[in-house]
Amino acid sequence: MEFVDKSIGSGRAHNLLVNFLNRCLDKKPYPRDLYDAMKSDIEPDELINPNQDTTYNLLLKWILEESHIKGDGLNNDEGYCCYCMRKIKANDSHSTLEHVIPKSIETEEDYNSYFDVDSELERDENIMTLKTKFFNIRHKQALPCPHNAAYENLVASCDGRLPIGSNNHVCCNGPRDKTKIPPIMFMRNIHNEIEYRTNGRIIWIAGNPDMKVKRERAKIINNVLCLNHDILKCIRGIWYHLATNGLDCKLNDEEKRRVIDTLRPQCKLDSEKEMLQNFLSQTNYWNLLDQYRYFNDVNKFT
Ligand SMILES: [Zn+2]
Repeated sequence: MEFVDKSIGSGRAHNLLVNFLNRCLDKKPYPRDLYDAMKSDIEPDELINPNQDTTYNLLLKWILEESHIKGDGLNNDEGYCCYCMRKIKANDSHSTLEHVIPKSIETEEDYNSYFDVDSELERDENIMTLKTKFFNIRHKQALPCPHNAAYENLVASCDGRLPIGSNNHVCCNGPRDKTKIPPIMFMRNIHNEIEYRTNGRIIWIAGNPDMKVKRERAKIINNVLCLNHDILKCIRGIWYHLATNGLDCKLNDEEKRRVIDTLRPQCKLDSEKEMLQNFLSQTNYWNLLDQYRYFNDVNKFT
């Protein structure tokens, strides 16, 4: 998992959103849901929007672009899911703009609780201004904009549909839905606090000895974002094995079999063995590895 720095690219994103919100202000009636309105709005200026994408798609593309890590070789319409680190493209059906503070949040108390934890959300001037404007249902100026359309409150995530071609939302934005979780990707130290074990498990280590904090963090990882789903553990475990042996995921059937046969004894539960077997018997499982190349690096594991 990586820290997402919203100060990068904020200038052009703000320009895009100012134009969008001004168009909304001109509209009668004013859109009930700004987030949905972004999906049909198109910035007409061809210098800003040469391909005449929807505002939603353009923003998603830019946010994905800002998630690039040095030397990862991604194209400009690609980036990472902020939770599971799946490579996603702006026009993939499973790519979404994720609200850090859910768009449907109802009370000021709930809203303010997102600022209780130590994250860059708290230090962001746009978000702080936005915080004080939360209950202005119809803003009368373009910026600061309501949290449901604010650049500072939007990140890219996958909807968790795994394996390829499935409609089953197993992780990330899918199961999280509107559940309150801390702004995990805005925590400066998150890269060091999240550990990937060599067996594929992800753990949010508690730098804080408080048992309540430990339990909450485990719940977020395991039950809300479901990042220890068997399919994700297999992906990370296979990549650790491939990376330690200097292998790529583009293997023939015999090579794949050797990998799975080596890893099978590490599985403690039958369900884990069955999931691992899926990677051998079904290409829509094995082909996922290419989307999770983020883990093709032994240094990411402890
Ligand atoms: Zn994801």
